[in-house]
Amino acid sequence: MTVIMRLLVTNDDGVHSPGILALKKALDPLGEVIVVAPERPRSAVGHAITLHKPLRLHRGKMADGLPAWSSNGTPADCVTLGILELMDGKADLVVSGINHGPNLGWDVHYSGTVSAAFESVMIGVPAIAVSVASWDDDIRWDGLARFAAKLASWLSEHPLGPHTLLNVNAPNLPAGELKGIEITRLGSRQYVDRLIKRVDPTGRPYFWLGGTLLDGQSEAGSDVHAVANGKISVTPLQLDLTSNAARADLRAIEGL
Ligand code: MN
Repeated sequence: MTVIMRLLVTNDDGVHSPGILALKKALDPLGEVIVVAPERPRSAVGHAITLHKPLRLHRGKMADGLPAWSSNGTPADCVTLGILELMDGKADLVVSGINHGPNLGWDVHYSGTVSAAFESVMIGVPAIAVSVASWDDDIRWDGLARFAAKLASWLSEHPLGPHTLLNVNAPNLPAGELKGIEITRLGSRQYVDRLIKRVDPTGRPYFWLGGTLLDGQSEAGSDVHAVANGKISVTPLQLDLTSNAARADLRAIEGL
């Protein structure tokens, strides 16, 4: 089966990252692949967009010299520029990644990778976010890139509902050691010691954000659990953040 698709690839680790290169190469056989990514790493910028300064598009290169577009904008900006300017609105799918590091559980709200995919579904183009859930230096990009290409091809025949994306996270394992694929829900990720306060040499306080992950939050069925158990996690995410449980409870307020 030959699928001809118009694909946009972005990555919040920047246009020079190894993950975007692996993804672009794996998606190339599916059709036309346009690459546009931030000119420098922009991880954890969430869904930031640039409103108060000009956005630029530059002809740049990826790590191996392949041509690509780069921008001074955020990952979400890159998706808007890619779809509306470079592809004239005619994109079939946006694939954001492969991100170096997990985008699991509540962390998706900080993620430039996942937010780029959300920007795409807001514009009306289906999207996948792909992350390798590891901070190792030695990442096995190719297997996950091939899985992303298979998923892209499958989605072209089986479209998701509107305003929905797929968030993919995989452990950094050789293909033979992966335990399969699990469709998951978003788990929780809570951190302790999130704010570290220090004092600079002049006696003034300064702060580092960070913290360590709270253990014991790996409920079965969650993305966190699947990856911890050697599986590729695929979580469908939607834009609608409404709590329907609270909505029912709050009906009483309408009579106040
Ligand atoms: Mn990143």
